[in-house]
Amino acid sequence: MKKEGKPVKSLEQLEKIAKAFGASPGGEPALDFSNTQIAFAGKSDEELLKTQWLFKMMNNRHLVNIGSKLGLLGTKIPLPFFEATVKSTIFKQFCGGTTLLESLPAIEHLHELNVDSVLDYGAEAKENEEDFNRTMNENLRAIDFAATLGSVPVISTKITGLARFELLEKISSSNPALSAEEKGEFKNVLKRIDAICHHANEMGMSVFIDAEETWIQPAIDLLANRMMKRYNKEKVVVFNTFQMYRTDRLAYIAESFDLAKEQGYLLGAKLVRGAYMEKERKRAEEMGYPSPIQPNKAATDHDFNLGIQFCIENFEQIAVCCASHNAESNLQMAALISKKNLPKNHPHLQFCQLLGMSDNITFNLAAAGYNVAKYMVYGQVKEVIPYLIRRTQENTSMTGDLSRELTLVMKEVKRRSI
Ligand SMILES: Cc1cc2nc3c(=O)[nH]c(=O)nc-3n(C[C@H](O)[C@H](O)[C@H](O)COP(=O)(O)OP(=O)(O)OC[C@H]3O[C@@H](n4cnc5c(N)ncnc54)[C@H](O)[C@@H]3O)c2cc1C
Repeated sequence: MKKEGKPVKSLEQLEKIAKAFGASPGGEPALDFSNTQIAFAGKSDEELLKTQWLFKMMNNRHLVNIGSKLGLLGTKIPLPFFEATVKSTIFKQFCGGTTLLESLPAIEHLHELNVDSVLDYGAEAKENEEDFNRTMNENLRAIDFAATLGSVPVISTKITGLARFELLEKISSSNPALSAEEKGEFKNVLKRIDAICHHANEMGMSVFIDAEETWIQPAIDLLANRMMKRYNKEKVVVFNTFQMYRTDRLAYIAESFDLAKEQGYLLGAKLVRGAYMEKERKRAEEMGYPSPIQPNKAATDHDFNLGIQFCIENFEQIAVCCASHNAESNLQMAALISKKNLPKNHPHLQFCQLLGMSDNITFNLAAAGYNVAKYMVYGQVKEVIPYLIRRTQENTSMTGDLSRELTLVMKEVKRRSI
């Protein structure tokens, strides 16, 4: 659970940040992430009140702790009403649906508000070849489904859904001598990720390859670089993910760009801060190696913002996705786009937030004409429980303050006088 560094921005702070980054040139109004009217325009009064209730529940640490334990139990043994309760509450807030077809209304709803969707099959780390093939087939199906819509330009995939964790760990180690059997296994992994990227290319789609733990990331980078080399010749089909909470990733973006230039392909760069901070620090401490994580939040923010700047400076050869709920980082990217007079809808300039979170950022960016999408997780309720637990924990208050999301929803409820 997050204990530190989570900036809860007051509405006044958001307004101040917007002013600091300045209005767009040409007399356009400044982006204002405190504008809750735009943020929640897609929600009826009833939906808004339900969202407020849900975020109030999530704000309570004790409830979230109990809920998380029940959630994990519910994935193992059948609990009466468990699925139905989850499905009508947090699942509805943070997931598109249990299947692709069930996610369609959510995709269409976002599309009406100028927001794209990134389909993300929610099943987490798998263990055997049958499961890995199932994940691949699900990704291929998502590409086919998305290609018919026009409002889902990207699907995302996690390599741990396609490969055994221990294999990735071995390839990432300083002594990656694989047995004949492991070599065969790795060939299958390559075939799976290649099938996904190849199909995405054929269907005019893109693929985000998610970043994971540092001790398997070298294997993920290797696969991502191979796929970018193969498919990013004329346009950016494949994106690698850069976790800027790592001390070495700013340099790695530059290194990846050099490699892309040297080998003649375009770089796809999705920038995130990183989701495994506590796990990373704990492992480093237990195993006695220097933590790969930045010393503090300010250092992470600094590298994230510099990483975005670097990509925008080189936007002709780098497609960048600012995957963040951080108001400053999103405003910085928007301000850079304005400053350089780039078209807001340039295909190499993208923003992305998770479904159900930071609607103030997503819908204000969309209303101002930027390329913005929601990561839309879909899958059976039991499969997405770990994802839902992470979302509820993110929205829990450790201090008793109101969470960022709850503050915004309450402001809109008050504005509508409901
Ligand atoms: C569309 C999308 C896709 C994503 N894909 C991935 C992915 O592929 N891989 C992945 O790992 N994560 C991914 N994430 C999650 C992401 O890494 C962050 O955990 C999450 O978005 C919170 O960061 P933020 O930029 O939104 O906002 P903020 O709330 O500003 O930042 C919080 C983040 O800052 C960092 N941080 C907090 N405290 C400290 C500290 N004391 N010292 C150093 N750093 C600190 C942590 O990374 C923390 O998550 C994704 C997020 C989004 C929105």
